[in-house]
Amino acid sequence: MTDPHQLQVVNPATEEIIATVPAASAEEVNTAVARAVPAQRAWAALAPADRARLLRRFADTVDAHTEELALLEVREAGHTLGNARWEAGNARDLLLYAAGGAERLTGSQIPAPGGWNVTFHEPLGVVGVIAPWNFPMPIAAWGSFPALAAGNAVVLKPAETTPLTALRLAGLALEAGLPEHLFQVLPGHGHTAGRALVDHPDIAKIVFTGSTRTGHEVAERCARLLKPVTLELGGKSPNIVFADADLKAALDPFSFLDNAGQDCCARTRVLVQREVYDEARAHLADALAAVVVGDPADEKTQMGPLISRAQLDRVRSYVPDGAPALRGTAPDGPGFWFPPTVLTDAAPDSPAAREEIFGPVAVLLPFDDERDAIRLANDTPYGLSGSIWTRDLGRALRVSGAVRAGNLSVNSHSSVRYWTPFGGFKQSGLGRELGPDALTAFTETKNVFLSTEGPA
Ligand code: NAD
Repeated sequence: MTDPHQLQVVNPATEEIIATVPAASAEEVNTAVARAVPAQRAWAALAPADRARLLRRFADTVDAHTEELALLEVREAGHTLGNARWEAGNARDLLLYAAGGAERLTGSQIPAPGGWNVTFHEPLGVVGVIAPWNFPMPIAAWGSFPALAAGNAVVLKPAETTPLTALRLAGLALEAGLPEHLFQVLPGHGHTAGRALVDHPDIAKIVFTGSTRTGHEVAERCARLLKPVTLELGGKSPNIVFADADLKAALDPFSFLDNAGQDCCARTRVLVQREVYDEARAHLADALAAVVVGDPADEKTQMGPLISRAQLDRVRSYVPDGAPALRGTAPDGPGFWFPPTVLTDAAPDSPAAREEIFGPVAVLLPFDDERDAIRLANDTPYGLSGSIWTRDLGRALRVSGAVRAGNLSVNSHSSVRYWTPFGGFKQSGLGRELGPDALTAFTETKNVFLSTEGPA
């Protein structure tokens, strides 16, 4: 039986237990929040330039430990080494961006008869961040670093399966000189530590990244307390490929295989205009066969394992034996391996075509014209990302205007940049992270009216 007070961290490529970490109780969450409250007050009282200086030092410390962080992410999450290095770099770059934001966060003044309005952006207080396992390091960073830069403290609960990189980031923050208890990482279970964080009266905001199902519960609990919440949830994003597109670039299999498909932005619905459908199918068959799946620590590996046996079982349930599909190869085990797969005969209303599988599985669907493409693209409860491939600029603009999703790319599969807003429409979430407004999302706006009336 598993011990509810401990979390076992398993290397998904080998199934070896690589660490055992205490799981925080609700009382420990309360203690962490109680410590964060005075730490936040002192932090917010610093000059913005001093906060920025410490955050830049934190960025330098992360930079100096890139390889260590990347190898930890490889071992606990099965990410390829190249991706894991990018993730450590993303955390560092976001720290630098947020540090600049700390220095530029200003209010405004609005004239009025008999005085002036002065508008301030005040930090919220202590922010709770709840992260999933699929991108442990970047998502810990996206929720936490802009909040810190805006003058808040953060208590972060990483996912049960992947606490190690977040814990290391908290250690590096201390090494860099950030005050104690300002950025605390508490590994724990969702139903104990996660709920305790959401329900805590001194947690001023929750940033939740995870499944849509859990997101609904978190939103309901926050609503009872009128607590602001940002929700970054699931996706089932389209890749819309018109006949005039650069097919090779458009059908890059890593648009849905990156991170073994455990990517909320994965373009797992490959929508291809009918006249190039056969060509697309042949290209994808070759591309899947060429994907190098294996040891994520090997520089040549392009795709690693799934995170856990539970996730492997879930992915398998969407791909029955003998289902018409294009398939690559994967190791047998140990490890949680699933081959790159494109289902070629899934009905547009089937679970495989509509639900988030969160594995290296896409569906290939034909469409007839622009209107049909838009209808299919929007025919899902989600609205996170998507790509549109065409050489016709007018069509690219029309389609990007009509697809209901928060992050689209035209003739590119790029999704997430720390300097642009990120978030979902529909069941993919609520609110935005990153981008120019990343810091103000962690502030309350206060207006003070200053009377200039003299004595009567
Ligand atoms: P999950 O919802 O199971 O868990 C996410 C986090 O919530 C974990 O830390 C978990 O412990 C915690 N949690 C679970 N129950 C809770 C509760 N009742 N109260 C508070 N916290 C609770 O999700 P997951 O399986 O870890 O992550 C995969 C999901 O995350 C996918 O759906 C994926 O699309 C989504 N995701 C979204 C984004 C985005 O930016 N939109 C990014 C990455 C992942």
